[in-house]
Amino acid sequence: MLTRRTLKRPIIMSQFTQRFKTWPAKGLSVATRAMGKTPLGLVVIGFAILPLLVFDWSPSDAALRDPELEPKIKSATVPYLPLPPVDAIDFPPPKFTKTVRARKGDTLSTLLAREGVSLPEAHRAIQALSKHYNPKMLQLGQELTLYLMPQTSEPGDNRLTALILRPSTFIEISLKRLSVNQFKAEKRRIAIDRRLVRTGGTIRTNLYIAARDAGVPAPVLMELIRIYSWDVDFQRGIRPGDKFEILFETLFTEDGEFARYGEILYGNLVLGQSQNPLYRYKTKKGLIDYFNTQGQSARKALMRTPINGARLSSGFGKRRHPILGYTKMHRGLDFAAPRGTPIYAAGDGVIVRRGRNGGYGHYIRIRHNSDFETAYAHLSRYHARAKIGRRVRQGQIIGFVGTTGRSTGPHLHYEILRHNRQVNPLRVKMPSGTKLRDKELARFESFKDKTTEQYATASRPAKVAHSAGRKAN
Ligand SMILES: [Zn+2]
Repeated sequence: MLTRRTLKRPIIMSQFTQRFKTWPAKGLSVATRAMGKTPLGLVVIGFAILPLLVFDWSPSDAALRDPELEPKIKSATVPYLPLPPVDAIDFPPPKFTKTVRARKGDTLSTLLAREGVSLPEAHRAIQALSKHYNPKMLQLGQELTLYLMPQTSEPGDNRLTALILRPSTFIEISLKRLSVNQFKAEKRRIAIDRRLVRTGGTIRTNLYIAARDAGVPAPVLMELIRIYSWDVDFQRGIRPGDKFEILFETLFTEDGEFARYGEILYGNLVLGQSQNPLYRYKTKKGLIDYFNTQGQSARKALMRTPINGARLSSGFGKRRHPILGYTKMHRGLDFAAPRGTPIYAAGDGVIVRRGRNGGYGHYIRIRHNSDFETAYAHLSRYHARAKIGRRVRQGQIIGFVGTTGRSTGPHLHYEILRHNRQVNPLRVKMPSGTKLRDKELARFESFKDKTTEQYATASRPAKVAHSAGRKAN
């Protein structure tokens, strides 16, 4: 009647009492049935022997001295108590939940080992987990919820039954045990509560201060500048009296905690008399971009500045050459930037040249269409994917700033070539990006109206800390 497994498994007293609470109803009916079939004497002997077989009565067991347990244990010897069915005896030890954080130098396996999970078991768990989560990405302080099941009364011997972690605000990875040596991992997107915020203002001194005073968070302002940078020169193109409007998302998790700022849904820069509204729109094909009221994308086919955070150190035109000493035509733009700064493909296209090119040093040239090519010079090195014949997307990294060839310091020399002749990247009329037409344009029109409505009903920023602080001073 008692299986070997039952006997081998140590029993912990607290469960024993827990189990007791469920005994009477289920157990009594079993007993009544047993009484009907078995001679009474055998049943009584069974009751007398069973506790000796199943439970460890050793007095060293601390749980035994728990005064709360005492009366209940005594009641186990009451004669009418029924023989529990085998299933009821074979109950699992208690599971417990523990929230832990990754410490310095932790790997998932050292962390699990510290919680008493055996190495082979941790290995199986991590292997299953790696379907959705790279264990090497474990961050210091990453929180993990472990569901553990003690195997013995010793503290350092636990079986992992489940595990939950959130590698990012919006992703939850869970791991469940399916069988003795099988785990299954699942990935879930955490529900997001999206709240829209609208604000705007008039630029008195500069855009940064105006945006700050209007409650535009810094990352949202950076994004606004990025969106408009195709058309607006933020160094020189903004004047006092210009205005801006913006509608952006703030994202909260399902627990109501602020997660991060989302997308800008609508922006408008009023430069002098000219309105420049842009709408974030996803086409039926899935292309997301910012479009003006005519359905023309703000993005151009080529970037004027294929590098981030660089200073324009030399413009296009005649200049005294810094090395050669005589006046020479400079047929590109120079952007000073630290060595290793990524350089982007200015537009979609195909790499047609890559290699040493005299004074240009390490050099890349991209053909975008039958009219335009762009060239990038003095690179320290090329990106591994930037090979001759390869297609590249706008914004894809193709190489890194260096000072190879005839160069006085780390910078990018950038050229736009139209019909094989260099043109001034700051002056050239850029080939435009996407233009919405027909049905897509009609779809965009109704989307635009919806966004306008959202703007009208969105709330203002909750508080503007900076301006409030200044008033207090
Ligand atoms: Zn140059």
